[in-house]
Amino acid sequence: MKVDAIIVGQGLAGSLMAWQLLRGNLRVLVVDRDEAVTSSKVAAGLLTPLAGSRFNLSDEAMERLNYALNFYWELENDHGGQIFHHQKIARLFRNQKESQAWEDRLNKNPERFEEFHAPLGVLHDSIEATEGGFEMKRGGWLDVPQFLEMTRQHLLERISYAIGDVSAEEVSITDSGVKWKNIEASKIIFCEGWMGNQNRFFDWITMHPALGEILDLKIPALEEETRIINRGGWMIPKGDGVFRAGSTYQHDFDRIEPSSEGEAEAMQKIQSITSAPIEIIGRRAAVRPIIKRSQVFMGTHPEYSNVAFLNGLGSKGVMNGPWYASRLAQHLFTNAPLPPEADIRSNQI
Ligand SMILES: Cc1cc2nc3c(=O)[nH]c(=O)nc-3n(C[C@H](O)[C@H](O)[C@H](O)COP(=O)(O)OP(=O)(O)OC[C@H]3O[C@@H](n4cnc5c(N)ncnc54)[C@H](O)[C@@H]3O)c2cc1C
Repeated sequence: MKVDAIIVGQGLAGSLMAWQLLRGNLRVLVVDRDEAVTSSKVAAGLLTPLAGSRFNLSDEAMERLNYALNFYWELENDHGGQIFHHQKIARLFRNQKESQAWEDRLNKNPERFEEFHAPLGVLHDSIEATEGGFEMKRGGWLDVPQFLEMTRQHLLERISYAIGDVSAEEVSITDSGVKWKNIEASKIIFCEGWMGNQNRFFDWITMHPALGEILDLKIPALEEETRIINRGGWMIPKGDGVFRAGSTYQHDFDRIEPSSEGEAEAMQKIQSITSAPIEIIGRRAAVRPIIKRSQVFMGTHPEYSNVAFLNGLGSKGVMNGPWYASRLAQHLFTNAPLPPEADIRSNQI
């Protein structure tokens, strides 16, 4: 069997990569272990255009945001079904400094920031909003499991998906590309998530994975709430008073499962948002692939130009991933330059 690219891993990164290559009429084979718990399967999928306390949004980030929103919208249009849920984010200020930072953004660059701004509507009495806030537009959440499933179905229809475990040891370099088992490909792209450097080609990359826990909560008092609420922690309404909420960051971990410490930390964040009675109805944990903050890293092996890497999606994979995957596809198949900030070969990481 001959393909243009073997993609190793069908998480968010591998799926985004697959769509980019298929759009370029390339033949792919995506091989995934089909694990029950992965970062992509657990992720909340939040896309927050203005993250952090300073609400920064560079021109580049704006381009990535627009690209991502169009990308998910086009997939929905072309393949049916909803994967991206546009939802306003009630961004509640934690302190005066945050409130000032937002006011400064609006005053200094209204053309950029006003499109994200709506006044804060009425909130339930139990919600802590003494410092005020605003409703952030153009955000929402990607139903990542749904997106993975849509991708998998599309690949299956093209006989382009296989369950399997690709060991880098079994990948050989050939004159025309690479070979894995009986499959010849021009390129192989490793999208393996948080263990992406446990691979003979990319063991020189340092990763800083972080265990994250999220909770499913029943909060009957907030049954009417339709906005995502964000104040340090975040809560995504799923209807009928059920919220997905979180989350935690733990760089030191020896097990990938929910813990009482993780639950306590996540609950503390949520209880600083609402004083309403909460019932925990679900807990999940997985490991985020992080290389440096939320910077995606990608590119080719310094010696083997047909062996590529896409990883480090961190907490902003839903927003940044589509644009970076498109740039990697162009780099691999049309020699377009990589965005320098993401190039694994030119960064000290
Ligand atoms: C609790 C939590 C909350 C999060 N919330 C958000 C959020 O709100 N917004 C956001 O943008 N991001 C969020 N993230 C981060 C997001 O999940 C990740 O950035 C993204 O999903 C990573 O995708 P990935 O494809 O790189 O890795 P993964 O999802 O880990 O996928 C890698 C895939 O490759 C497979 N694989 C690995 N090695 C092999 C191999 N050798 N052979 C075959 N298959 C292989 C794995 O089985 C897996 O399916 C969150 C993460 C967590 C844990």
